[in-house]
Amino acid sequence: MSRSHGGTSAFERLRARLDEGSDACEECGFVDDAGEWEAVTTGATVEYRRECPSCGTERVRRYRL
Ligand SMILES: [Zn+2]
Repeated sequence: MSRSHGGTSAFERLRARLDEGSDACEECGFVDDAGEWEAVTTGATVEYRRECPSCGTERVRRYRL
């Protein structure tokens, strides 16, 4: 990556990675196109949470910053 950092935060990079993944619920297979990951920082890590509107299963992805 030779471009300057230019305001692309670690959060944005992680979110972009999440958005590339499947939106299908792991439990019921519902595809939530309009859903968004909710970011929660806990010091050295960030959690992204997303709740399936169909079955209510909460998915969590956790990354180190
Ligand atoms: Zn579901």
